[in-house]
Amino acid sequence: MLTLYVHIPFCKARCPYCDFYLVTRPEQIHAFFKALSLETASRCADLKGETVSAIHFGGGTPSSVPVGLLAKWLDNIAALCSFTHDLEVALEANPEDLNTTSMNELRAAGVTRLSVGVQSFIPEKLHLLGRKHSPLDCQRITAEALERFNSVSLDLICGVPGEDLAIWEDDLRLALSLQPQHLSLYMLSVEPKTRLHHQISKGLISFPDDETQASLYENALREIALYGYSHYEVSNFCLPGHHSRYNLASWKREPYLGFGPSAHSFLTVHGREIRMANVSVLSRYLAAPHNAGVFREELSREEQFIEKVFLSLRINSGLDVEFLRKENNLGQDFSGSVDQFIEQGWILQQKGFLYLTDKGFLFADYIAGALIFG
Ligand code: SF4
Repeated sequence: MLTLYVHIPFCKARCPYCDFYLVTRPEQIHAFFKALSLETASRCADLKGETVSAIHFGGGTPSSVPVGLLAKWLDNIAALCSFTHDLEVALEANPEDLNTTSMNELRAAGVTRLSVGVQSFIPEKLHLLGRKHSPLDCQRITAEALERFNSVSLDLICGVPGEDLAIWEDDLRLALSLQPQHLSLYMLSVEPKTRLHHQISKGLISFPDDETQASLYENALREIALYGYSHYEVSNFCLPGHHSRYNLASWKREPYLGFGPSAHSFLTVHGREIRMANVSVLSRYLAAPHNAGVFREELSREEQFIEKVFLSLRINSGLDVEFLRKENNLGQDFSGSVDQFIEQGWILQQKGFLYLTDKGFLFADYIAGALIFG
């Protein structure tokens, strides 16, 4: 079983906080899809005989490209592998691109899951984040999307400059009142070389301190749980059966193939785990799409162990203490760290497994690092 990821690297403009690889040159969209079909054809061997359970269009902004081009690529891939009867086709969308017509077209093309980059329902937050859509647009789009797609996910950002608990509670409740089946919740991070970083370093705006950010996140976990969502990854929450298939498969270290610039792949070949990555610069991808892979590495046992510990904690599937004891070749004694984290209220130990608490999710990577490296 495989899942597929397609990176669509186009956005209409760069948001002030974003450091993803993308381009704002729509004139290259057709050349990109031509290259994508060449890359796809060149990877027939990886697809042959495989059954695909999910296809995820991410980016960038996949909703900014013509739906017909997405549909054509879906037809291409259908000829190269099999699909499960309940294939999930997910697409990340900017609210600015969505209306009744575009959503109907996406649904007709086979999209079953829409992930809407709402980011906020508070006008001042949207302004700070450089987003053009209005809260009313998002409410209307969400309601229409819920009528058309099997799963609708809303992305929310918290911890923007000036945000306090009262603003965040209003924002989150507005999102929850729309009853999407899935929520992704991101703490705003200030990445080097972004406009947001420049504004903060010049003292033009100030960023919430760590304590405020932690209280916003913990408040969200309590509030979202009241509405029946399960917290299945640090930043992701869903109603039963509505998790993102591609994302969960990649966090569970199940095989996936990535297409397009900067896409990654993970395959198991004759018991060996292989990670691969495509060239990230669009011009280089367009020049040689049939040869887009620039990185290929077989994971050592240590690397597999490290990934398993980091990822099983992040998705809270429970980290098997026996696995930690047996597989850790790095010679670290983790029992002192476990006792300390239990005492701090960051992890729970139940029936031989370790789970993060709400507080522990804030320090997921730190905790994993301490368990591995001491
Ligand atoms: S729409 Fe998303 S990917 Fe594009 S610039 Fe904004 S945050 Fe980045």
